Amino acid sequence: DDGWATTRFVVLGFGTAGYACADSLLQAGAEHVTVLDDRDNEALREKALILETLGADINLGEGSTAGLPADVEVVVTSPGIPPHAPLLATAVERGIPVWSEIELAWRLRDPANAAPWLCITGTNGKTTTVQMLTSILTAAGHRAVAAGNVGLPLLEAVMDPEPYDVIAVELSSYQLHFTDSMSAHSAAVLNIAPDHVDWHGSMDAYTTAKGKIYENCQVACVYNVADPATEQLVEEADVIEGCRAIGFTLGTPAISMLGLVDDLLVDRAFVEQRASSALEIASLADITPAAPHNVANALAAAALARAFGVPASAVRDGLRVFRPDAHRIATVGEVAGVNYIDDSKATNPHAAQASLLAYDPVVWIAGGQAKGATFDELVIAARERLRGVVLLGQDKVVIAEALARHAPDVPVIIVEATDTGAMETVVGEAAKLAQVGDTVLLAPGCASWDMFANYGARGDAFAEAVLRLGDN
Ligand code: ADP
Repeated sequence: DDGWATTRFVVLGFGTAGYACADSLLQAGAEHVTVLDDRDNEALREKALILETLGADINLGEGSTAGLPADVEVVVTSPGIPPHAPLLATAVERGIPVWSEIELAWRLRDPANAAPWLCITGTNGKTTTVQMLTSILTAAGHRAVAAGNVGLPLLEAVMDPEPYDVIAVELSSYQLHFTDSMSAHSAAVLNIAPDHVDWHGSMDAYTTAKGKIYENCQVACVYNVADPATEQLVEEADVIEGCRAIGFTLGTPAISMLGLVDDLLVDRAFVEQRASSALEIASLADITPAAPHNVANALAAAALARAFGVPASAVRDGLRVFRPDAHRIATVGEVAGVNYIDDSKATNPHAAQASLLAYDPVVWIAGGQAKGATFDELVIAARERLRGVVLLGQDKVVIAEALARHAPDVPVIIVEATDTGAMETVVGEAAKLAQVGDTVLLAPGCASWDMFANYGARGDAFAEAVLRLGDN
C-alpha cells in the first residue's frame, strides 16, 4: 500500500481540473476524497453523481468552501483558485501539503513505466511551443502527446494504459505554484513579462512560480538569452547533477546555445563540444509564421527535442508540418492591398509587442481588459512602425494615454461602441488609416471578456468584419 487508500484528500474546485483530480485519486484507490466547490448547478451535479458512485464525497453550493475539514491531510487545488483564497491560506498555515493537478500527476505516474516530461512555461508562446515540440517528437517516430494546460489533461496522459514515449507538457504559473516534486527530463521558460500578477500577489511571486519548472531538472534547463530573468532562474534552481543550461537566441549562438546563422537554425549545444562545432537543424523557411517571436519558439522546441536525442532531420520535418492554432498571427485576407492579421490571442502587452514587431508599417487594433498592465514599453518599442491605432473596449484609455505620452504623432481612433457591431466600426477605421502594402493587426494586448465570450470570438468578429469590408 502506498498510502493512497488511507490518506484524507480534499479537492478544491469541481471544474475540469478538479473533476480529473478527484477521478484519478479514486482510480488510484483513494478512499477518502472530498470535493468542495461553492458553485452548484445541473452540470456539476451530474458530474458529482458519477464520482459519488465511486465513493467520493461531493459538497456543492454556497458555504461548501467555508472551512477545511479538520482531518484533511492533502489538499489538491484547481488553477482558478489563487493562493490567498482563505481555504488555501489556511492549509498552508496548518502545514497541510497543497498539490496542483501537475503534482498529483507526477505522483500518480508509474515510475517503472513513465514517459519523461519535456516541460514548457513562459508568459507567452507556451501552447505554440508545446505543439511545435509535439510535432517534432512525432516526426522522430515517438509516441508523443501535448498535455497540461493544452491538449490532453496531464492526469489522463500519465494514466493512459498504453504509455507514451514522452510527454510535451505546458505548465502555467498557477500550476507550478503548487508543484514541488516534479523532475522534468528537460524544461524551458520562454520569457517572463507581467501577467496574472493579481493571482500570484506580486511580480516576484509570479517569477518564482515559473522558476519551479527547473527544480530537479535532469538533462537540460533551456532559457531565453534575450530575457536574462529566465537565465537567472536556471542559476537559482537545484537541478540533478549533470543537467546543463542551454540558451536559445535569435542571434549567433555561443557554445551551449541554439540560434540563428543567417537564415539557418543552428545547434551548438547538443554537438561535440569543440569551438567550431555547429549543426544545421532547420531554416527560417521551415517555420510558419516566421515572425521573430515564433522563430524563438521554434528554437526553444528544438532545444528540448535535441536534449531528448531527436536527430536534426526530425526537427526540420516537425517544424515544416507545424501550423499554429487559430487566432495566433492568422492571416485573414487581403483587401485593397492591405493585409489583415488576427492575433487575438495576444492578450497581454508583451505578446502584442512581439507581433507588432513583425510588421512595418502596421495599423494596430488594441484594447479590452488590460488586467492592470501598462503599455509604455510596447509603445516605445513599436512607435516607429505604427501607421495608426484603433482602440476599443474597457481599458482603451490606458493605451491611449501611453500613446499620447510616447507617440503623440501617431493617429489614434477611439471606438466607443461596445455592441456586436463595434468590431465592424473598428475594422472600418483601420482600413481608412491603412495604405497599400500595410498590415492591419489585431493584437489587443488585453483580455476579451469585456466585449466577447473569449479571444476566439473576438478574432472571429474581426475576420467577419474584414470579409464584409471585402464585399463592399
Ligand atoms: P500561451 O500558451 O503562452 O498563451 P500562445 O502560443 O497561445 O501562448 O501564444 C499567445 C500569443 O502570444 C500569440 O498570439 C502571440 O501574440 C504571442 N507570442 C507567441 N510566442 C511568443 C513569444 N515567444 N514571445 C512573445 N509573444 C509571443
